[in-house]
Amino acid sequence: MGFPWAILSCASTVYAAGAGTCCSRLSEELGTKVSFLSQPAYNGTESSYWSLQEAGLKPGCILHPSTPKDVSQAVSIIAATDGCNMAVKGQGHAPGAGFANIDGGVTIDMAGLNTTVLSPDRSVLGVGAGAAWLQVYQYLDPYNVSVAGGRNGLVGVGGLTLGGGISHFSPRVGWACDNVVNFEVVLADGTLANANQNSHSDLYRALKGGANNFGLVTRFDLETFPQGDISVSTFVNNVSKRGPVLSAFTDIISSPKFDVSVSLLVSFLYNSKSKAWTISNSAVYTQPVLHPPVFDQLAAVPSISNTSRITSVASLADEAPTSPLNWLFATAAFKPSAEFMLETFEILNNILYSFNPQGGVVWDIAFEPLPSVMLSHAAKTGGNVLGLQSDEGNSYIMLISALWLDSASNTAVEEVSREVLSVIESRAKAEGLLRKFQYINYAAPYQAPLASYGAENFEFLKRVSRKYDPQAFFQHRVPGGFKLVEQSQQELGVSNEEN
Ligand SMILES: Cc1cc2nc3c(=O)[nH]c(=O)nc-3n(C[C@H](O)[C@H](O)[C@H](O)COP(=O)(O)OP(=O)(O)OC[C@H]3O[C@@H](n4cnc5c(N)ncnc54)[C@H](O)[C@@H]3O)c2cc1C
Repeated sequence: MGFPWAILSCASTVYAAGAGTCCSRLSEELGTKVSFLSQPAYNGTESSYWSLQEAGLKPGCILHPSTPKDVSQAVSIIAATDGCNMAVKGQGHAPGAGFANIDGGVTIDMAGLNTTVLSPDRSVLGVGAGAAWLQVYQYLDPYNVSVAGGRNGLVGVGGLTLGGGISHFSPRVGWACDNVVNFEVVLADGTLANANQNSHSDLYRALKGGANNFGLVTRFDLETFPQGDISVSTFVNNVSKRGPVLSAFTDIISSPKFDVSVSLLVSFLYNSKSKAWTISNSAVYTQPVLHPPVFDQLAAVPSISNTSRITSVASLADEAPTSPLNWLFATAAFKPSAEFMLETFEILNNILYSFNPQGGVVWDIAFEPLPSVMLSHAAKTGGNVLGLQSDEGNSYIMLISALWLDSASNTAVEEVSREVLSVIESRAKAEGLLRKFQYINYAAPYQAPLASYGAENFEFLKRVSRKYDPQAFFQHRVPGGFKLVEQSQQELGVSNEEN
C-alpha cells in the first residue's frame, strides 16, 4: 500500500513514470471519458472521497467509464504500458490513503457504472458496481423488496460487497457477498467474465471477501427478498450507564436464539478536546414493529435522549454527507463478555484521555453483533473466503474510528490507534476472547485482514490469483488496498490458537 514510485511533475499535471503515456493512450481511445488535473470531471472525483487522505492524492488522469467495455479497454491499455499503475474507486469510502486513489497513476472511477435492473420476477437485482446503496434502496423500495447492502446510503456497492458487507439484514440473509449470485468482472488481461456457481466458481468464491485482488467488478447480481418498512430507535446514554448498556448488548448478541431482525450498533464516542464520553445506540429492527421487545433491556437504561420511528429502508440509509476529514478505521472481533467490554472502555479511557493532538480528534468505538446465524447463510451461494464458521458461536466486531481535521496529526493518531488495538487484543487473547477475524472493510492499513481468514482460505486466494492473474497485475500494478502479496501468516498479529 505504499507509493514507492517516483513522481514526475509536468506543467499542468502529475505523472508517475509510464502514466503519461498511459493517460495519452487512454485519452486517444476513450476520449472525454478521461479527465485531467483541474478539469471539472477530475475535480468531481477528487472531491467525492470520504477521507482527506484519499482526496489528497493526485492521479495523472482519471477514467470515468460508462460501460464494462470501457473498463476492459482501459485495463488492457494500462496492463500493456510499463510503469503505469492504477486505482479502482467505487464510492470512495475506504479511508486509507491509496486504497481507491493513486498519486501519479490512473484512477478508474466506477461511479458512472450505476444502472439498477430488477429481474421480471423481482428475485435478482443487477447493479452497476459504481452505484451507492441509497440509489439501490430508492429503486427497490417501491417494489417491496430489498438486498443486503450498506447501512449508510453514501457507501459504495463495489467496496462494501467485495469485502463482505454488513447489512441491517445480515442476520437474516448473511454478509452482502453471500447474496451475490453473479459477478461480472474485468480480468487482468482485459476480458469480461461472469463468475457464479456454474462458471469460474473458484473466482466467484474468491470475490466474496477477496476485495480488489482479482479484477474490476462491473456488475453485481444480487438476490432480493421481500421487505417493507423497518423500525429504528436511537438511545443516547451518559457514559456512567455503560454497565447496563453493555450487559443489554451482550445479552442480545450472545443469545443462542439471536433474533434475525436485530441490527444493533453500540458506540462509545469521545472528543479529545472536551474529554467527554457518551454512548450512542442505534437499534434497528427490520420489521415495522415500534419498540420491539428484544430491545426492552437496552431501552430501560436511563437515557439522555430516546427516539423511535418506523421508516423505509431508503430513508434510513439517506444520511447527510460529512465534510472531508482525516479518518482512520481499525478493527478486531471478540467472543461476547460484558466484563471484557467494560475492560475495553477502561483501556480506551486510559490511553485516549491524555491524547489531544493539535486540532483535536473524535473517536467512535462501535460494537456490532456477529451472530452465528448470520454466518450460516454463506453456504447458500457456495461459501465465501472470510473463514468464519457458524458453529463457532456468536461474536461481535469492534470498529475503532478516528476523525480529525489537522493532517499534521495523522501519524500520532495512527500510533495511538495501534496502541489501543494492541492493548485490547492482548487483554482479549489472555482471557480467551479474541477471534482472529479482522473485517477487511474496517481494517487499518497496518492490519492483515486477508491473512486473518485462515491459512486455507489465504492459500486458496493466492491460487485463484495465480490462475486468473498470472502476471500478478492486481498485486503490483493496482497497489491500493490489502494485497495478497503483502500479507502472510507471519504478518498476522494474532496466533493461530484463536478462532
Ligand atoms: C460512513 C461509512 C459507513 C459504512 N457503513 C458500512 C456498513 O454498513 N457495512 C459495512 O460492511 N461496511 C460499512 N462501511 C465500510 C465500507 O464497507 C468500506 O469503507 C468500503 O470499502 C466502501 O466501499 P466504496 O466502494 O465506497 O469505497 P472505495 O474506497 O471506492 O473502495 C474500497 C475498496 O474497494 C475496491 N473497489 C471498489 N469498487 C470496486 C470494483 N468495482 N471492483 C474492484 N474493486 C473495487 C477499491 O479499489 C478499494 O480498494 C462504511 C464506511 C463508511 C465510511
